[in-house]
Amino acid sequence: MRKADKKISRREMLKLSAAAGAMAATSGVLGAEKLFAGEEEGLPQIPRRVLGKTGSTIPILLFGAAVQLDPDFDPKIAEGLRYGLNYIDAADCYGGATCEMAVGNLVAKLDAREDVWITSKSDRHDPKGLEKTLQRGLEHLQTDYVDLYFMHNLKEAKYLSDDMRRMAEKLKKEGKIRYFGFSTHAPACAQLLTAAAEAGWIDAIMFRYNFRIYGEKELNDAMDECVKAGVGLIAMKTQGSEASFRDAWRKYTSEGRWTKHQAVLKAVWADSRITAAVSSMESFTQLRENIAAAVDREELGRADWEAIERYAAETRRYACDGCDHICNAAVDAPVRIGDTMRFLMYHEVYGEREKAKRLFAGLPGEAKRLRGVDFSGADSACPHGVDVAAHMARSAEVFNA
Ligand code: SF4
Repeated sequence: MRKADKKISRREMLKLSAAAGAMAATSGVLGAEKLFAGEEEGLPQIPRRVLGKTGSTIPILLFGAAVQLDPDFDPKIAEGLRYGLNYIDAADCYGGATCEMAVGNLVAKLDAREDVWITSKSDRHDPKGLEKTLQRGLEHLQTDYVDLYFMHNLKEAKYLSDDMRRMAEKLKKEGKIRYFGFSTHAPACAQLLTAAAEAGWIDAIMFRYNFRIYGEKELNDAMDECVKAGVGLIAMKTQGSEASFRDAWRKYTSEGRWTKHQAVLKAVWADSRITAAVSSMESFTQLRENIAAAVDREELGRADWEAIERYAAETRRYACDGCDHICNAAVDAPVRIGDTMRFLMYHEVYGEREKAKRLFAGLPGEAKRLRGVDFSGADSACPHGVDVAAHMARSAEVFNA
């Protein structure tokens, strides 16, 4: 068993903290109070769960690295390590490879490759292209293997081909990856999960899962199939798409003992089929809030669940599910409503303005022309009653489209 698969021992924690401290001393990034950590200071450790048939354990909270990272030594990741948050979720496309480079620099400086679980992803869904992206990623990450490698944002089951299976097996044999799977936020998520369970060679899937979709039968059945087949399940987008409704959820933050953000994370962890939840943590405040929720074993109470349900109901019309085959078809222009809504969410809710603008700028030219388009058909077509026209008007303003 590799060290990244288990809780960091006290001795290792001290080693990591000391290394973090040494780096802080030279970079001035970390304060002296953070130099030593772990059990010595009585710091609680994030619980761990087994990731499907891999048999490896990972913390229930994962560091989503699709955020602005310090390119030399990111203090948030170092801080997370002190609490046992030793899983970093990277991707070739995050920050135009700067994410993988930042993770590589940090792990190399800590000399902690064996102590940190690195997941990365490729946008390429053809075996050769994926292999090429992985090779480039390994160089950026300054390592000769990643723990888990994903096909990023999978939309169709056809990519779970025999050729891809052979490639995954080859990469494992060569020691370049330990496990293989895919991430998806496609509308066809349930079908993709079922296909993975049937395929038998997918180790783990990262997919959109949150309090808004607990009741979806098809998804729940597919999750059960995955659990039965030993496919590890990792939740993302746990906050449930909050574009443009900060005011609507703000009032919930003072209810009960958890903030809304913590409560919906705990709601995901309440599902034992989920091994872990990935969270993009842009600030120390978010990091600490998430860690506090993860280390506190107290389960949500009835009042918390009721508040979540109420919140879900009241904000339903603001929450976009990404099922844009429905609304796009109702608009007479080649727009990409689901993607645009997601980028708007990054901008408005997560404060990831540069990332949002960059992603929007990456859409095809015609998809970026939002002004003058009649979105009334999409308003009527959306099964959740999302005010598409209002969101697109806001997107046009924010992205200057
Ligand atoms: S606006 Fe409605 S139909 Fe379009 S992607 Fe979002 S939830 Fe689906």
